[in-house]
Amino acid sequence: MLDYVGLEGDLDREERMIRDTARRFVDEQVRPDIGEHFEAGTFPTDLIPEMGDLGFYAPNLDGYGLPNVSETAYGLLMQELEACDSGLRSMASVQGALVMYPIHAFGSEAQKERWLPDLGTGEAVGCFGLTEPEHGSNPSAMETHAERDGDEYVLNGSKTWITNSPIADIAVVWARDRSATEDDDEAPVRGFLVETDRDGVTTNEIKEKLSLRVSITGEISLQDVRVPESNVLPNVEGMKGPLSCLTQARYGIAWGAVGAARDCFETAREYASDREQFGGPIARFQLQQEKLAEMATEITTSQLLAHRLAELKERGELRPQHVSMAKRNNVRMARDQSRIAREILGGNGITTDYPPMRHMANMETVYTYEGTHDVHTLILGEDLTGIAAYE
Ligand SMILES: Cc1cc2nc3c(=O)[nH]c(=O)nc-3n(C[C@H](O)[C@H](O)[C@H](O)COP(=O)(O)OP(=O)(O)OC[C@H]3O[C@@H](n4cnc5c(N)ncnc54)[C@H](O)[C@@H]3O)c2cc1C
Repeated sequence: MLDYVGLEGDLDREERMIRDTARRFVDEQVRPDIGEHFEAGTFPTDLIPEMGDLGFYAPNLDGYGLPNVSETAYGLLMQELEACDSGLRSMASVQGALVMYPIHAFGSEAQKERWLPDLGTGEAVGCFGLTEPEHGSNPSAMETHAERDGDEYVLNGSKTWITNSPIADIAVVWARDRSATEDDDEAPVRGFLVETDRDGVTTNEIKEKLSLRVSITGEISLQDVRVPESNVLPNVEGMKGPLSCLTQARYGIAWGAVGAARDCFETAREYASDREQFGGPIARFQLQQEKLAEMATEITTSQLLAHRLAELKERGELRPQHVSMAKRNNVRMARDQSRIAREILGGNGITTDYPPMRHMANMETVYTYEGTHDVHTLILGEDLTGIAAYE
């Protein structure tokens, strides 16, 4: 596996073990059928509990049966899952960073005890409802709202593009709490734990995707859905709730994208060595070597950025803007390099027999979700100049 500057040497025993466990799991259990899942547009749901048993959901958190592994180990896990398919990493990212993290960080003790063990083992599946049909890049304009009625809240609104909503047991729904004011601009955003079997909840699947096909995506429609007050995440208010979850998930994406690009590189390198044209392997042509050299360099610099993020995160010095830079850079890198790998594979490169074009299609989603490339550009622009250019 490509590790051009010897980062392996810096890993401790536990980090190597976690990486190797994930690599073995995908090689044995997922890779053999991944092309078929991609063509069928299905996720191997039978593996969800096994991924839990192996500790793939939020292992960087502590308590409630969670092992509190290093941020490097967590990153390596995301890298190995996405080296197989972005859909697999999305499953672990959503469950861990977008559902378990907010419950762990902002939930009541009862909420933590009720949900974290089941989500950690994969006995329960969660989803994260922020995006709305009319509000994607600007979620703070959300229309979904909650009104208080005695000791209950009544939720109305709709969310879309929600990973796992059709198979979820619990949805973390971000909504404006109108109890204090009818003016939506003033009403604080709060997180609500909404069991998906409650009256008024529907979760239609979005099936027409040409990207991230090994992932279940859907809507969440909320029509007069009643939840008890005890389902509100008590310890956060405002957009920092959902945004802090996104920082966790984007951290995993910055690592994961390197895995997808590495898988493309390894496939292209092997193919170039085996494929013969004009009397010898195509790897002997300078044109092909230039592509491989460029890919290896781009992957290595992205890997270094991911490792640096882990160090900063461990030290408590990671800023959301650091994560924006890495998400933006590493996903663009993987998007570009998957296309080059596809090119090296010639006609075979457009089939599901080889991973590059599947990764290439997946990267269109990864480039767009969790803050589009453009939005991360604006975040960096604001950080660098002090001037916000969103509007
Ligand atoms: C497969 C998939 C899974 C997803 N999973 C989830 C999930 O689990 N939970 C969830 O809440 N959401 C999820 N999303 C939603 C995702 O986060 C949004 O698609 C994303 O935030 C972009 O929103 P949008 O699609 O509405 O695009 P828009 O916001 O409409 O953007 C369209 C284009 O305009 C650009 N643009 C927008 N604003 C600006 C600006 N100020 N300046 C310059 N350009 C701008 C964008 O960069 C983009 O190119 C998922 C999306 C996909 C595709």
